[in-house]
Amino acid sequence: MIDPTLTPEEIQFRDTVRAFVEKEITPNAARWDIEEKYPQELFQKLGELGWLGAAFPEEVGGSGGGSVLYALLCAELSRGSAAIALGIYVHTALASAAVFHLGSDEQKQHWLPDALAGKKVGCWGYAEPGAGADISCVSTRAVKDGDDYILNGSKLYITNSPFADFMIIVASTEPEKGLKGMSLFIVERDMKGVSVSAPFKKLGMGASEMAEIVFDDCRIPAANLLGPENFGFLQALKVLTLGRIASAAFGVGLGRSAMEESISYTNQRMQGGKPVSRHQFVRFTLADMATKLEAAWQLTLHAARLVDAEAPYDREASMAKLFATETATWTCERALHLCGAQGYMRESNAQRFYRDCKVLELGEGTSEIQRETIARMLGV
Ligand SMILES: Cc1cc2nc3c(=O)[nH]c(=O)nc-3n(C[C@H](O)[C@H](O)[C@H](O)COP(=O)(O)OP(=O)(O)OC[C@H]3O[C@@H](n4cnc5c(N)ncnc54)[C@H](O)[C@@H]3O)c2cc1C
Repeated sequence: MIDPTLTPEEIQFRDTVRAFVEKEITPNAARWDIEEKYPQELFQKLGELGWLGAAFPEEVGGSGGGSVLYALLCAELSRGSAAIALGIYVHTALASAAVFHLGSDEQKQHWLPDALAGKKVGCWGYAEPGAGADISCVSTRAVKDGDDYILNGSKLYITNSPFADFMIIVASTEPEKGLKGMSLFIVERDMKGVSVSAPFKKLGMGASEMAEIVFDDCRIPAANLLGPENFGFLQALKVLTLGRIASAAFGVGLGRSAMEESISYTNQRMQGGKPVSRHQFVRFTLADMATKLEAAWQLTLHAARLVDAEAPYDREASMAKLFATETATWTCERALHLCGAQGYMRESNAQRFYRDCKVLELGEGTSEIQRETIARMLGV
């Protein structure tokens, strides 16, 4: 497909990922959704292809591609299965990115080559029973004890946690300092005092697995502190801001599948002697989907290009995340509507997209948090 906004290298990458997704992911997406089990072998497959490392430099095991290639990867994966994209995204854009952006050289060399090869899988834990949209409410506590920290508390709704090898955990190291008293830690799954609940039942994203992690006097060596003590909050924000662009790409991919599903259905569904796609209401809805999705993709691409150009991108990342994820929700709801009763049936793709989309507006900073961020940058 011709796209003057992408370079030949980017188009080739997108088409290669698309072919892989159409062969390996799309045909299995509905089954994986019902089985509620993440196909963990995909981490290694994508690692071998060099795609987990798309946004990471070669010296840490990445393929040196940058943020645009990573956005293309997220959009294509999510077009095949949003749940599969979610697991890959948490592992790369959150867990591995945290080690890359905040870790020491030693930590990067220890964790990243295996993570980017898909041999070790990561998860990202900041949400807690009492801390969601507002990260300052984190109450998981890490107390210094000689050369170690003792971690107590719990992390809720953590994607990949049922099988993750390493966990990036936001904890309070000096509660009296509030946001400036939080730190990040790399917790290894087999450390004493770490337990993970059974996977939760969710509305959508069936194939992605999430659970609660509990830390009970878990002793972590100080070498597993990520970045300087008490700067975890500011560091977490940096990781989350980059992740917003991936989230936006994710929304675009999911929205595109929903649009394609409704085009296919309304073209073949006959009512009143003609395909329903000949009705003006249906045509206009499809036209609005295509327009909004294109705008969402251009915002996403723009934010990713700013990252690659090392220009400020916070505002654009929030705008892309806000618009693309709300567009995904709108498109998936309209797609189900256009597919009628058939779309409401459990075997239809439209109902899966409808169940999958909503979480994109909740994770990585809810829509309200994105609007607050954008408004703040407008000086209001
Ligand atoms: C499928 C799924 C996967 C997830 N994976 C992870 C993961 O891997 N790691 C992780 O750490 N977390 C994960 N989460 C949790 C996610 O980070 C939280 O859902 C998110 O942070 C929102 O928190 P909350 O759900 O507690 O909502 P709350 O904070 O309770 O918010 C409830 C509502 O109030 C609104 N609100 C809150 N504060 C404000 C404000 N200041 N101004 C205006 N409105 C506000 C919110 O926008 C929201 O609409 C996941 C959640 C889901 C559903």
